[in-house]
Amino acid sequence: MKTVLSENDIQKMIDEVTSMKGIRLADEDTYKARFDTCMECESLMYGSTCAHCGCVMQVRARLSDGKCPKKKW
Ligand code: SF4
Repeated sequence: MKTVLSENDIQKMIDEVTSMKGIRLADEDTYKARFDTCMECESLMYGSTCAHCGCVMQVRARLSDGKCPKKKW
């Protein structure tokens, strides 16, 4: 199983999720703040994957009801 995602892989996932009907997205400032928190978090692996939930951070942080499993955001 591939564990390191390319920028292209991440972008495809973002595009898939953000184009889903009825999906509610966080505003850009919220996303940016979450992204910055994750980038400084010791639990972020390969710059994209949260060790606690296994999610792709760049996707989860875009969801309006996305939550950090460690309650950092
Ligand atoms: S979602 Fe939370 S625990 Fe996971 S990498 Fe981001 S800040 Fe860290």
